Amino acid sequence: MKRTIALLLILISLVSLTASAEPTRSRWARVYKHGDREQPRVAITVDDWYYPEQWLPQFMAVAEEYGVKMTLYPSGFNLKVEDRELWQSALDAGHEIGSHFFQHKKLTERSYGQITSDLNRYQKRLDEVLGYHYEFLTVRPPFGAGAGDGGGGKIGRWLHSAGFDHIITWDMDNTKDLDKALKTIKNGSIILMHANKHDLGFYKKLMEALKDRNYEYVTITELLNITSRYYYTAE
Ligand SMILES: [Zn+2]
Repeated sequence: MKRTIALLLILISLVSLTASAEPTRSRWARVYKHGDREQPRVAITVDDWYYPEQWLPQFMAVAEEYGVKMTLYPSGFNLKVEDRELWQSALDAGHEIGSHFFQHKKLTERSYGQITSDLNRYQKRLDEVLGYHYEFLTVRPPFGAGAGDGGGGKIGRWLHSAGFDHIITWDMDNTKDLDKALKTIKNGSIILMHANKHDLGFYKKLMEALKDRNYEYVTITELLNITSRYYYTAE
């Protein structure tokens, strides 16, 4: 009996120790290509957003028809105050905005200082456009450049130092061949499209073709359970 009680006490103290431990921020950034392969959830992401006034309402119409919550990665220079209502309507519809950086340049060709000031400039512009602070939680490097080295590579280390741990890439970006796209897409997929006429047409065909798979189309932060700019580990 005494032994049982002693064991119980040890167990209780172990459990409370784990529960009270502060989450530790990872020492690296994390590069995501997809989410959980066990869950029938998929994220649709759309980059660049030249001419949002032309394409955003049309992408949103497709999203509404098929119950999709998209994640939009505009370049900062495409964010304009005169489009405030447009971007707000996307947020109101449940879509999400991440950062495709202010300038559409390869991160591998930029310095640490340029990358940090670019992201700060992006946040500032986004807030000006919306008229309030909207903290973006994920970054998508233009051309995916630098992300291939993983979160511990040079770009990953720089982004981590700048305070951005979640680097989002994709596992499906083929908007030319629907059959191939359908073969590539699976549970947890991150689909990359661009805000243009061709991809809008592909988007409609894709959503129709995926109908019987009954995926849930969630935003990137939902797919990857991201709630802050930091990546925490259990270490
Ligand atoms: Zn891009």
